[in-house]
Amino acid sequence: MGRKLQRIVEAAIIERIGPVTAQDLMAMSDDSWGLIRDQITDRRNGKDGLVARCLACECEVYIRTSKTRGIARPLFQHYNGSDPDCPWFQGRNIKPDAARAAQYQGKQESNFHRLMCELVGELAALDSRYIKHTVGQYRSEMVPVFWTGC
Ligand SMILES: [Zn+2]
Repeated sequence: MGRKLQRIVEAAIIERIGPVTAQDLMAMSDDSWGLIRDQITDRRNGKDGLVARCLACECEVYIRTSKTRGIARPLFQHYNGSDPDCPWFQGRNIKPDAARAAQYQGKQESNFHRLMCELVGELAALDSRYIKHTVGQYRSEMVPVFWTGC
C-alpha cells in the first residue's frame, strides 16, 4: 500500500473528562493517555470505559499512536464508518490547503473551527487544573497533518 495523507482529529470530547485537544493529548504522560486509550477500547468492546467523540462530527474516536522520530505519539482517530464529511476525517487524498479552500470558500479556516477553538478554551478554563490558553491565528505551515503507512 502507498502512503496516504491523513488529517488528525483536532479535538474530542471524552466522557467524564471533557474536551481534549490533539495538543492536550500529546502533552499528557504516556500513562495518562495510555489509560484513556485503554478505557475507550474497553467501552468499544462492551465493557466499562469511556466514550470519546470527535468534536466536529460527534462520531466515536479512539486513540492510536503514530511514531515520530522513534517516539510514540497519541492521536485521536475516527473508527471506520465515521462520517466521511467530517473535516477531520482521515483518508482524504488531497492537499490540506486545497481541502480547506474547497471547504471554507478559500478562507483556510472555517468559522466553526474558530468557534470550536474558542469553545475548547472556555471549557478548559472551567477545569481546576486550568492555567491559561490562547487561540492562535490559523497558520498554514502548522497544518496538523502527518503521513503514515497503511
Ligand atoms: Zn469527526
